[in-house]
Amino acid sequence: MEIAGAVQGVGFRPFVYRLATGLHLTGWVLNDTHGVFIEVEGDEAQLHRFLERLPAEAPAIARITHLNHTWLAPVGYEHFEIRHSEAAGARTTLILPDLATCADCLAELFDPADRRYRYPFINCTHCGPRFTIIEALPYDRPNTTMRNFTLCPECYREYTDPGDRRFHAQPNACAVCGPQVAFYEKSNCALENKSSSIGLSSPSDYPRTDGAWMRSAEGEDALRAAARAIRSGAIVAVKGLGGFHLLVDARNPAAVQRLRERKQRPTKPLAVMVRSLEQLAELCEITPAAAGLLQSQAAPIVLLPKRLNAGVAETVAPDNPYLGVMLPYTPLHHLLLAELNFPVVATSGNLTDEPICTDEWEAFERLGAIADCFLIHNRPIARHADDSVLWLVDGQPQLLRRARGYAPMPVRAPQSLPTILAVGAHLKNTVALSIGEQIFLSQHIGDLETTPAFDAFQRVIADFLRLYAVQPAAIAHDLHPEYLSTKWANSAIGLNNSDSSDAHSSPQPLLIPVQHHHAHLAACLVDNAISGPALGLIWDGTGYGLDGTIWGGECLLGDAANVQRVAHLRPFRLPGGEAAVREPRRVALALLWELYGDEIFTWEWLAPVRSFAEQERRLLATMLAKGVNTPSTTSMGRLFDGVAALLGLHLRVTFEGEAAVALEHGAARHET
Ligand SMILES: [Zn+2]
Ligand SMILES: [Zn+2]
Repeated sequence: MEIAGAVQGVGFRPFVYRLATGLHLTGWVLNDTHGVFIEVEGDEAQLHRFLERLPAEAPAIARITHLNHTWLAPVGYEHFEIRHSEAAGARTTLILPDLATCADCLAELFDPADRRYRYPFINCTHCGPRFTIIEALPYDRPNTTMRNFTLCPECYREYTDPGDRRFHAQPNACAVCGPQVAFYEKSNCALENKSSSIGLSSPSDYPRTDGAWMRSAEGEDALRAAARAIRSGAIVAVKGLGGFHLLVDARNPAAVQRLRERKQRPTKPLAVMVRSLEQLAELCEITPAAAGLLQSQAAPIVLLPKRLNAGVAETVAPDNPYLGVMLPYTPLHHLLLAELNFPVVATSGNLTDEPICTDEWEAFERLGAIADCFLIHNRPIARHADDSVLWLVDGQPQLLRRARGYAPMPVRAPQSLPTILAVGAHLKNTVALSIGEQIFLSQHIGDLETTPAFDAFQRVIADFLRLYAVQPAAIAHDLHPEYLSTKWANSAIGLNNSDSSDAHSSPQPLLIPVQHHHAHLAACLVDNAISGPALGLIWDGTGYGLDGTIWGGECLLGDAANVQRVAHLRPFRLPGGEAAVREPRRVALALLWELYGDEIFTWEWLAPVRSFAEQERRLLATMLAKGVNTPSTTSMGRLFDGVAALLGLHLRVTFEGEAAVALEHGAARHET
């Protein structure tokens, strides 16, 4: 039998073992690069029962996409066994996303009688890290970042006992043999006598100091030190599953303000982690659908309506009726939140616009100016994964950021596709790779504005091509010639050219430029499993149009192959180009000018007009009249910005969508 899908790292082989031995069948099971491969032999009626029960009783977190079986002549196996994984063949098995701590592990974590009592890395075949520890396929411990932790006798017994919940749980660990936490603070404030590490069974290999940072506690002491620091208003960088978080007391306005200043993030909402659903209900209005999402094994951030007097500082999500909230999703977070028992801001460990930090030595560098201290651990993170963000629209979950808990699960393509690497656009970049009928979506990478972000983009592409061991036949990129992703695609072709002397090199990948809004339409078609033709209404901020102007309020009719632009917003001008994106007041003036001409510059009763000095207004009038540095656009995002500015909501913005979000929230309070 060949089984494909999300069948590795979910306890599938132990399940097969128990099922086969229970039915007195012999043979073997193994993981290969396609999924799971089984040979069973025995009584024919029992074999039929095995075939029926296997898909019906498979572990709940497994996802079977294909199941094929063939009848063979008996070999005469004496036992049923789990064989070593085979690494050969095309890599099409699904890599599981990271899974939030399961109920069984959580109970053990807080059970003083359990041998993993308060161990921050407890996990089993039903939960724990996956995507963020996998370095290669198939999913086996030597191919994960756990390979340097040798199982202690007790963990080894669990790992090899088919009746155990931790049978072949690749990240299996305990306080004796597994990863440990350590607490670092500035050398000059660390006290020598704080370094006692009572309760630590295995010394970590962490150095005493790293530059300005000094290890002042380990194990249980480290956890307590981090909690103490957060309680006192400090900013603590905590190494989690897919990267670092910056944690502060969400009730403390001064602490939140300091975080905003150091992170250079003046107003964009910050996410909050809360100990339990009960505590969360004090902050937000929770529907059963929202509770289901929060408690799912993806454990995303969910945007929920904020209660009045929610008990978190107003600066956490200023002027915003929503709050982004999540529950603890690793044992370390559970322990920390239980210790604190109040909501904490848990925002990505990065400077604004940079990707999340994953390595502690890099974190000391990059986050050293933001964090007051660090709670780190020595389980390496194979790749970054930010927290995913969802909200509910008409009771249905909609992903705003797809990363931890979801990536890299594929989207099903309508038919088998050639291997295409799609490198995405400039803002909120992700990449995608099609293999057969699967389209693997990368985790959220971010805006390709900074060098670290572009590095992360290149790393994710290299990582995907290596993990799935493929060379793309084509590279799809945005039509915009200046996007870094477009430039990368062009240079990738160039790189291939340089070693064309190698007779065995794969043929040159084809470059496929895609118009931004056509890509939106095609993505929407695949997402809804229809092939079209369809009429797509694409309301967007910015996208390079076929005529070289900035599109964004488009009606496109067609399918994934071809579209026709049947209608669009009436074009207007963006005085100052990029400056108009940061200053919606410029858009407001441009919109008015389209309708009423130069007289609008005297309309002092309008906030956006009033905000410009006499001389600035004259300059804007000249720019608009002569068309100097005033690119033409049909952008719906800019129209929202302009209207928000006209209403006096936001004359300037500090992050993309700020004005449009304010307009939406303002409108939601009124019936039309
Ligand atoms: Zn578990
Ligand atoms: Zn152990």
